[in-house]
Amino acid sequence: MSVPSILILPGDGIGPEVMKQVRRIIEWFMEHRGLEFEISEDLVGGAAYDAHGIPLHDDTMARAGNSDAVLLGAVGGPRYDNLDFSLKPERGLLRLRKEMDLFANLRPARCFDALADFSSLKKEVVAGLDIMIVRELTSGVYFGEPRGIFTEGNERVGINTQRYKESEIERVARSAFELARRRNGKVCSMEKANVMESGVLWREVVQKVHDENYTDIELGHMYADAGAMQLCRWPKQFDVILTDNLFGDLLSDCAAMLTGSLGMLPSASLGAPMKNGRPKAMYEPVHGSAPDIAGQESANPIACMLSFAMALRYSFDLGGEADRLETAVEQVLADGVRTADLLPEGDATAVSTSRMGDAVIEKLALSL
Ligand code: NAD
Repeated sequence: MSVPSILILPGDGIGPEVMKQVRRIIEWFMEHRGLEFEISEDLVGGAAYDAHGIPLHDDTMARAGNSDAVLLGAVGGPRYDNLDFSLKPERGLLRLRKEMDLFANLRPARCFDALADFSSLKKEVVAGLDIMIVRELTSGVYFGEPRGIFTEGNERVGINTQRYKESEIERVARSAFELARRRNGKVCSMEKANVMESGVLWREVVQKVHDENYTDIELGHMYADAGAMQLCRWPKQFDVILTDNLFGDLLSDCAAMLTGSLGMLPSASLGAPMKNGRPKAMYEPVHGSAPDIAGQESANPIACMLSFAMALRYSFDLGGEADRLETAVEQVLADGVRTADLLPEGDATAVSTSRMGDAVIEKLALSL
């Protein structure tokens, strides 16, 4: 089998700063754990616009489509705010997601013990939390037709359409069940089957996929509004939450805040398996390009590091190495090493982005 390829797209703002630390981590795994990757780097977002006048060059798109995993930093920044919609940095990211057909968005919400005080919820509610939200990403109300603002009689009406095909529900349900098999074997599917026909179909199809192939997984169903309440009341009851594009957008942001800082949150977007059996995949931190702190070497690189841990686990089937990296991060936090986002404003003990990288690499070295 050929050496797996990783395309790194650092992007804009703090993207290159945090990705520099991830690159050091990848190199550590190659040097000390015998992992082999063919790594290349390219431009996306504002950086691509500056070089080529477009937020994603066709060559970069083609390379992304042929890579075993894409690692993306972040895109955007005030310099590009007045560009035409089609040239905005975010269009580069959307094109990658669309053309790679990344239909399953994985957002873990994991609360490291050392950061349990950071949550707005009580420590006992969030300490040790480890859940995964699987959000359908390429269909539903954000894409359904008809859509638009129309005139009816003497007033305007805004229309968006929630629309799901059985095949679209089936494939994301399969992703969630496969994930649950690698975790704690539980899926809770959330929709609004009480008031939406698309929710009725969603529930039926998820149940059918379960009954045909995944009876080893414990499947439950919940209305999405009740699910939101349960996420705040007792999130540890969940393992994998499967939901559609709209509810997933809301529920994953809600779950994210259970764990504290934006600088800690990784994500993965997966598509159909390629010829080599690996899913098309892009891994990226949830945060944006943070123009307010870009260039200061103060950004937290952990979200991006944990995104690489997800790549190790979900693209390369290296769960043990992913655990090794996540444990190193956990130990660094337990030692009290913090970037500024994890401390009260102005706290002088904050470490720089590269010092956080050093600290994680030191812990990795101790794991050998
Ligand atoms: P943001 O996530 O960039 O920043 C929000 C706040 O969180 C800022 O105060 C920032 O300093 C802080 N923050 C974010 N990541 C951090 C990290 N790793 N370490 C420390 N602090 C961190 O969101 P925003 O300010 O709404 O958007 C800024 C730009 O990023 C915009 O151009 C937006 O379009 C873009 N954006 C891109 C993505 C992406 O690339 N996936 C996602 C969201 C926003």
